[in-house]
Amino acid sequence: MARYIGPKCKICRREGEKLFLRGSRCYTDKCAFIRRGYPPGSHGKTGRRKLTSYAIQLREKQKVKATYGILERQFRKIFHDATRTTGNPGENLLIALERRLDNVIYQLGIASSRTNARQLIRHGHIRVDDRKMNIPSYLVKANQTVHVTDAMKKNALIKKSLEERDPERIVGWLKLDKEKISGTVLRLPKREDIVLPIQENLIVELYSK
Ligand code: SF4
Repeated sequence: MARYIGPKCKICRREGEKLFLRGSRCYTDKCAFIRRGYPPGSHGKTGRRKLTSYAIQLREKQKVKATYGILERQFRKIFHDATRTTGNPGENLLIALERRLDNVIYQLGIASSRTNARQLIRHGHIRVDDRKMNIPSYLVKANQTVHVTDAMKKNALIKKSLEERDPERIVGWLKLDKEKISGTVLRLPKREDIVLPIQENLIVELYSK
């Protein structure tokens, strides 16, 4: 599956907000957005231009894509599926993104970023209901459990990620068992569970043109 492999901090600087794409580094003074909070490029320091309504919609979409680490084709497909489901398409889109297995592993604190979570899944270290699952885009269901393989329970990066994760940040629809390094999907996420500052209506407007 194709993925973005360019510099992540540039994305935050371009979008004008922290998107927390690099794990624990994002919570330190090393964060590039704190050190250089202006857009990248030679004209970055001269200030932000006034954006057209199209540009505002486009930036919102790009921000959400970057946050969840998804490229355009897959993102469009998720949106298309969201429009075919009952309810608000924008909310359906965000809920589908939240239910992705890579996001669940990240939200539980088993990985420090969605990129790291994706790597764990791809390398076959994650089980869903005791079955091997190596598809990062797999959508979890209520009452499912996810855990790392026994071989990975002593992994230093996983342990570090769990130690550094503030328990307050574990979302309400997931429950972490830190000892077993496993999580339970208590229920499906709702729009109010997603605390990221996202205006999904802008994405719906963009794709409705
Ligand atoms: Fe964004 Fe800062 Fe994390 Fe880089 S370190 S990805 S700028 S939040």
